Amino acid sequence: MSVGTIHRPARCELVETPDESELTMAAESAESGIQPAIQVTGISKRYMQNGTPLVVLEDVDFEASDGEFVSIIGPSGCGKSTLLNIIAGLDQPSSGTIYGRTDEDRLGEVGYMQQRDLLMPWRSVLDNAIMGLEVQGVAKAEAQGRARALLDDFGLAGFGDEYPHTLSGGMRQRAAFLRTVLADQEVFLLDEPFGALDALTRSQIQEWLLDMWGRVQKTIVLVTHDVDEAIFLSDRVYVMSSRPGRMTLVEDIDLPRPRHQDMVTQPRFVELKAQLLTSVRGEVAGG
Ligand code: ADP
Repeated sequence: MSVGTIHRPARCELVETPDESELTMAAESAESGIQPAIQVTGISKRYMQNGTPLVVLEDVDFEASDGEFVSIIGPSGCGKSTLLNIIAGLDQPSSGTIYGRTDEDRLGEVGYMQQRDLLMPWRSVLDNAIMGLEVQGVAKAEAQGRARALLDDFGLAGFGDEYPHTLSGGMRQRAAFLRTVLADQEVFLLDEPFGALDALTRSQIQEWLLDMWGRVQKTIVLVTHDVDEAIFLSDRVYVMSSRPGRMTLVEDIDLPRPRHQDMVTQPRFVELKAQLLTSVRGEVAGG
């Protein structure tokens, strides 16, 4: 396979005869080198619970640039899934903007893999994988062809016609990720995707995910409660406070790539881990 079989629309259209403002914008973009794929500004979210307002998110700023791998960690119940739901367009903020907008038509702009793999038990692996493409109106045979071409890369060779119950936990997660990748968005949101996996499978799938991310060059936002996982995978890690969730720390992960599991004992990794753990524990203790 080659990831070349993934049909990815160009993020920026080429303009045949650019005018001055387009040239200026292109120059500015080239100067900064990267563009924000997600920009969340001043998001707050309130729910009503038993007639009382519950503030879940408060003045949250968050950014992920094109092609970045960014993680969010924080105590349980601090609003991480709520934030992803808002970015995905499944929920709306009470105030604040996403991508500089306040409108509601973000649904379908990002690929979203939630905590449970949500594979349909009555559909084969292949037919689960093509669900996003079917929604987009791609003909079934064409969609199946695209999925089949990627089975090998996703460690699912020979399992395309099998049903989810025959797969291991790691294979189910890769099948769910295949479905997310095939839907071909520029941004993937992954909510605790490896939480149910044992440690060995988890570290294998982390390395696999990094390899895949390097090849598809998409933006990934990962929610995890695992500090090691966040450091190992990410370019940047956000720590959220306990509810109401706010961003309390943003840490650039300056470890070289490619990354390998043996890095977790190296001094810089250990130092970053100590900083993040102090911040997370402060939140748990304070919350
Ligand atoms: P996390 O992902 O960090 O564990 P969540 O975003 O799932 O946290 O939930 C944050 C808080 O918001 C929780 O207290 C939860 O009960 C509450 N919550 C989430 N969704 C709703 C909803 N639709 N209605 C009311 N409360 C909600």
